[in-house]
Amino acid sequence: MNDGARRLRFPPEVEQAYEAYRREYRARVMSSTIVPSLLIYNLYLIVDYLLLPATFGIALFCHLIVVTPLLLIAGLIVRQRPRLWLRECLSASLPLAMAAQLLFIFYINRDLATADHYQYAISGILAYANVNQRPPFRFALISTLILIASYCAVLLAAQTAFPPFLIGMSLITGVGYVTLVANYRMERDARYAFLRRTHDRFEYEVSEHAATHDALTGLANRYEFEKRSAQLYADRRLARTSLGILMLDVDDFKAYNDHYGHIAGDACLKRIADAIASQLRNDEDLAIRYGGEEFLILLFNATLADTTGIAERLRHRVNAFHIPHVAAHGHVTISIGAAAGTIAENPMNELIARADAALYQAKRGGRNQVSPPTLSADTPSASI
Ligand code: GH3
Ligand code: MG
Ligand code: MG
Repeated sequence: MNDGARRLRFPPEVEQAYEAYRREYRARVMSSTIVPSLLIYNLYLIVDYLLLPATFGIALFCHLIVVTPLLLIAGLIVRQRPRLWLRECLSASLPLAMAAQLLFIFYINRDLATADHYQYAISGILAYANVNQRPPFRFALISTLILIASYCAVLLAAQTAFPPFLIGMSLITGVGYVTLVANYRMERDARYAFLRRTHDRFEYEVSEHAATHDALTGLANRYEFEKRSAQLYADRRLARTSLGILMLDVDDFKAYNDHYGHIAGDACLKRIADAIASQLRNDEDLAIRYGGEEFLILLFNATLADTTGIAERLRHRVNAFHIPHVAAHGHVTISIGAAAGTIAENPMNELIARADAALYQAKRGGRNQVSPPTLSADTPSASI
């Protein structure tokens, strides 16, 4: 990947993410440089006035009626975050338009000695194109070559004497080389910085996930639960919505471990956790690995009937796995205690204690059941 920064090309998906990031950046750069660029460019009118007064009117026309509006329009379009090719072609057209204006004024004044001084301003335009605009290197390279070739062609067409021709050409190729190197390094550094940022963000997300989730089941852990509880108390709307609580425990799991081993036990817990996660209805619902083989489920906007209905579905699902077990039911089963209420009226601890007491009832009632029993007629019976 670091190699991608050096070669100025990442693998396609990373390149796409980099381009999305650059699109924003380029829009910002364009917005912030447009006014100073316009100001400095139009200050060159003083040079036009002093060196080539005879064509000042034409220069004024080119500056104010052609290049300045082009700069403003291109700036506005780039702020709309267009695709890479349109953005870079527009952006490259600005220095090229400035250079065309400069070379045109130079050409029509070619017989004047002062024109020789005037043409050297082309180096400033190159610096603007490659350093100030910061285009991707390949665009900088193409526009630099176009600029140098046009410059050379105009000097030849103007039959410029050899010494000023040589000075002009060495100046523009020297500045072209230096600014291209600067442009390459800026792009390479920008790509490194992007990689570092992406890597840091990824590392952060991984450690954030590891700190808030259980490694075996992928469900939230107690720490995440405490965080979400605190948010519940702080959010008046959530604190007043009915919260369904399920406390779930795997039946005779010690015997399962003792008989089938801990690795099989882990796999069993993982399957049950997946079944739990599949019962969550939205991003607000939360499943927590509360203890070893105990799970706590928070269901937002759920009445007690909704809560026990979901619990029944879940119990039924685990039964349907038919995971063999030496214990009473012949396969792995779960018991669930349910409670519901608003946090505003019942502190979280109280709701959990109620669900816990209900779970105890389910265990005492023979396991593989939900307590309190669901009132709905269409939920599967406890006798599966
Ligand atoms: P009950 O039906 O009353 O809940 O009986 P139980 O055997 O399930 O209850 P107990 O609390 O005695 O045993 C829980 C067992 O869960 C003990 C432990 O071996 C097992 N356990 C806890 N965490 C893990 C885990 O991460 N992996 C595995 N494989 N087993 C675990
Ligand atoms: Mg148990
Ligand atoms: Mg237990």
